[in-house]
Amino acid sequence: MPINWLLLGGHQTQKREVISEQDLNKQEVVTECYCPNGHSILTDKAIFQGHPGLTLKLKSKTSEGLLVISPLIGDRERTFIDFEKKLGEVVDICCPTCSETFPVYNVCPCGAHLVALFTSKKAHFSQCIGICQRLGCLHSELLSERDLRLYNRQDYF
Ligand SMILES: [Zn+2]
Ligand SMILES: [Zn+2]
Repeated sequence: MPINWLLLGGHQTQKREVISEQDLNKQEVVTECYCPNGHSILTDKAIFQGHPGLTLKLKSKTSEGLLVISPLIGDRERTFIDFEKKLGEVVDICCPTCSETFPVYNVCPCGAHLVALFTSKKAHFSQCIGICQRLGCLHSELLSERDLRLYNRQDYF
């Protein structure tokens, strides 16, 4: 018998997509999100259309506070809590529970780094959301092991 599990999680199924505002129409919601140590970062510190937000601790040279981003894919809503934001500044993005810094996995088109927020407890880069460390940069990416968009593509083209 062939060993099918070798196909699971292989590179050939990796999808990396830039999240755009149109993605909001697809009504995909992040229901799980973890730090590298497995803490869930979904909290009710801010609620977006009834869904708990992704809560991140931000550290800049002059300030430390929280950022809560919408779990709706494509939604650019975000709320800063007790954080003095300077647009354009590059900050550290950490877990609000253990303060572990989220790992960098790529360079953002703006020149800062993209960090990975893991959407599975495996804390693997094949399943994560990428967000930029620069305040005011709204570039974000969705990395997944399957093509979430297949149906929609067929409808559009
Ligand atoms: Zn943590
Ligand atoms: Zn950026």
